[in-house]
Amino acid sequence: MNRLLVSSIIVVLTGIPLSCNRSTVEVPPFNGNRSFAHLERQVAFGPRVPGSEAARQCRQFYYEFLDSLKIPVDSQTFDFVDPYSNQTLPLVNVVASVEGTDPQAGRIVLMAHYDSRPRAEYAVNPKLRETPIDGANDGASGVAVLLELATLMAEVQPPCSVDLVLVDCEDWGKPGDHELYMIGSREFANRGIRGKYRFGIVVDMIGDKNQQIYREGYSQVYCRPVNDMVWKAAADLGITTFYDSVGYKILDDHLSLNTGGVPTIDIIDFDYPFWHTEMDTPDKCSALSLENVGRVLTKIIYDPSLWPSKL
Ligand SMILES: [Zn+2]
Repeated sequence: MNRLLVSSIIVVLTGIPLSCNRSTVEVPPFNGNRSFAHLERQVAFGPRVPGSEAARQCRQFYYEFLDSLKIPVDSQTFDFVDPYSNQTLPLVNVVASVEGTDPQAGRIVLMAHYDSRPRAEYAVNPKLRETPIDGANDGASGVAVLLELATLMAEVQPPCSVDLVLVDCEDWGKPGDHELYMIGSREFANRGIRGKYRFGIVVDMIGDKNQQIYREGYSQVYCRPVNDMVWKAAADLGITTFYDSVGYKILDDHLSLNTGGVPTIDIIDFDYPFWHTEMDTPDKCSALSLENVGRVLTKIIYDPSLWPSKL
C-alpha cells in the first residue's frame, strides 16, 4: 500500500439497502495461534514477489489448504506488463467462496493481498534497498486472518455468504507510481462486482505486535457505516487496539472495490516501523494482533444484525 494521497477518486456507491437480519448463529472463537502459523507458513516460501516461484508455491499452499476445508476456489489469472522491466508477469487472484445458511443475508467480500514487495526501499542499509522483502506484516498477516476465518466457516457455516479474496500484486510500484499499486484488486473489480456484495473489508498490515488501528481516512469518507460497525464491534469485544479516531488516508485495495461499486473499508495499522524494509519479518508480529482483528471479523460474519441498514 502507498502512503501518498490522491486528491480524488471516482467512487460510486451501490446504494443497495441492507436488510437487518436478527440471526442467532453461534460465533466461533478465532484462534490467533493457528492464524499466526499461517503467517509463518507463507513467509517460509520466501518473498512472494509477483510472478515468482515462491508466489506460485504459496498459492499452491492456499489451494491445498482451502481444498482440505472443502471450500471452492476460483483463480483469476491475468498478465501484467511491468513497465520497469518490460517483462510480462503472470498474476493470479485466489477467490474462495463460502455459502451462507441464509440467502437473505447476502454476500460480503473480505480481501487481503498475498504478494510481498520486490524491493525494501526503506532499508537503512542502501545495499538492501533492491532486495525483496518477506512481507510478514505487509501481506502475509491479512491472508493469515482470512485463512483462519476459512477454517471457522468450514466448521460453522455462517448466515451470510463470504468471498475471501487473496489478491496478487498490490505492492509493486515505486513511491509515487500510483498506477502500479493494487494491480490484482483492480483486475478483480474490473471483472464486475457491482451489486454482488453488501460491503467489503480489506485487511492489510494488521499483525504488528504493537498494534494501533485507526479508522482509515478514505474508508471513513466512502464507507463510514462499516467503519462504525467495525469499531463498535471491537469496543464491544473489549479490544483496546482499535482507536476510534481517523488516521491516515492510504492507497490500498479498498479503493479498487469502492471504484468498482462495492462500499469497502480498509483495516490497516500503518504505524509500523519496519514498513518496506527487510525487517518486516514474523518476529515483529504476534498471534494476539491477528486474533484481535480476527475476532472482530468473526463477530461481523456471524451476526449480520450488526450490519448497517443502508450504505
Ligand atoms: Zn506495502
